[in-house]
Parts: sequence; structure tokens; C-alpha cells
Amino acid sequence: MSLLVVGSLALDSVETPQQVRDDVLGGSATYFSYAASYFTDVRLVGVVGDDWPAEHTEMLRSRNVDTAGMQVIAGGKTFRWRGKYLTDMNERETLELQLNVFGSFDPVVPESFRNSRFVFLANAAPKVQQRTLEQVERPQLIVADTMDLWIRETKDDLLQLLKHVDGLVLNDGEAKLLTHEENLIRAAEKILTLGPKFVVVKKGEHGALLYTEEGPFVLPAYPTGAVVDPTGAGDSFAGGMMGFLAHRNQADPQTLRQALVYGTIVASYNVEDFSLERMKGIEREDLDHRLALYRQMMIF
Ligand code: AMP
Repeated sequence: MSLLVVGSLALDSVETPQQVRDDVLGGSATYFSYAASYFTDVRLVGVVGDDWPAEHTEMLRSRNVDTAGMQVIAGGKTFRWRGKYLTDMNERETLELQLNVFGSFDPVVPESFRNSRFVFLANAAPKVQQRTLEQVERPQLIVADTMDLWIRETKDDLLQLLKHVDGLVLNDGEAKLLTHEENLIRAAEKILTLGPKFVVVKKGEHGALLYTEEGPFVLPAYPTGAVVDPTGAGDSFAGGMMGFLAHRNQADPQTLRQALVYGTIVASYNVEDFSLERMKGIEREDLDHRLALYRQMMIF
């Protein structure tokens, strides 16, 4: 089934304790699209400047990502993010954020995308997420992501958006920031009172928590010893999850649990190299292979 995503398309500069990369392909919608492309076609809505290398667009197209909703702003500069991981790679600092054309982004959903059944509002200003939602016709499932910047600076817009989504995906620190609750179960319960029917709290190397009115479902992260760059873990997790749901064309509680498992597996690959490099080297069969190992690890 059709899967639409709106979010950032970025050129990232990343510092880890071991290595540095400058101006590599990044962005929430980029990681999401690639991860989802293992399962389904993707319709992408985003914005870049004319400094955006055309090869990135070609690469996405080669993965059946429809880029008809990508605006290229003449004379504009692409969104740039610079981040640094500390010795404990769970800790990240944003060193620089240049919103550039993403700061004045007015998303236009092409006519051919408006009937999308599954919609993911990847990390972007809540107003951009809302504007996208206004242009789609009654989707079957709407899920949003967010981050600390938007919770701090545009909380009212975010609360307004949450009334219109079925699910919210965010990390543990963001869940606490949004709800003023230190306990994640209480935070998740509070989020369900804001609109979403389910929330997925990502906890980095500690896995993920799905919370619905039926209660919690928990998964550990796949234990990889080769963490090179955690950037995009959350977005690739969401891409794997939403791609699987769109492929199955349902989002009942059981399918949602399986989707979380695929999200976990895709994210575990993504962190094994910079940018999208590791994902580019694997296929759907690799995901299923790792999933079988993951299942083995949890039998007791
Ligand atoms: P993640 O590691 O899953 O949180 O995603 C990191 C990606 O999000 C990077 O590729 C960044 O380009 C992008 N990003 C960072 N800050 C923002 C922001 N405020 N809005 C949208 N995307 C962002």
C-alpha cells in the first residue's frame, strides 16, 4: 500500500569519537525512505537547495522512492546538521543547525500522492507536518515523529498536531520532555491522552517500548558490536516499521508488534556505518536473516 513521508533532506556532518564525516547524505525523510524501501514503494515530500547533489535523488529513485514531491529551491541552500557523539555514543550534541530552505518549507503534496493510505510525518516543524496532513485524503494510518527542538520551541503546534495522528514515535528523552514525566510508562500513558492511539518510545541501545490502551510491549535492540554512527537510527527504525505496515496493509496490534521488530532490525544495520552506507549494502534477505538470529536470542 502507498506510503507517504514528509521530513528533512539534509547534508550532515558527523563526529564520532573515532571518525569525522562532512556533508554526507542525511535527513529524517532520507533515512526513513531508504529503510521503508525494503518493504514498499515510498512517496517523498521534502525540500532541498540547488547545492543538493543530483546523485542523492537518483539513488533514492533507484530504490523506488517517488521524488515528485521534492522541491528544489533555486539559489537556496539545503538543510545542514552537524552533530557530535560523545565517548558514550548514546549521548549526542547538536553542534550546528542551519535550517536554510527547510526553515521556510511549505510542503506541496502532489495530486498523485494525495490518496496515500499510510502517512509518516518525519522529524520536521509541526506546522510543516500539519500542512502535509491537510493535503491528504483520509489515510488509514498517520504516524508522526518529533524531537526536542520542536517540543521546546513549538509545543502548542505539536499538541495541535497530536490530536490528528494515530501514532507518535519519539525517543525516551523527548517523551519525558513532552510530558514532564520521568517514568516512561507514565509518560506513554500521558501521550495517549493527547491524541495518539499508540506511542513508540525509542531507547537507543536499550530498545523500544510500544504503548497502547492494552498496555506495554517491549523489545531490546539487536545487540550489534559494530556501532559506527548512530545517526538516523530513529528514522530508519520508523522506516522499517511503517514500510512493513504499509506492505501488510494493516496496523492491528499483532502487525504493529512485528513492524517494531523490523524497525529494530533495520536500525541495527543503519548504525553500523555513516550516512546510509550500511543500508545500501543490504537487502531484504539480510533483514530476515538477522531477524531469525534476534528471535533465537529471545527464546527462554
Ligand atoms: P536521528 O539520529 O534518527 O535522530 O536522525 C538524525 C537525522 O535527523 C539527521 O540526518 C539530521 O539531518 C536530521 N535532523 C536533525 N535535526 C533535525 C530537525 N530539527 N528537523 C528535522 N531533521 C533533523
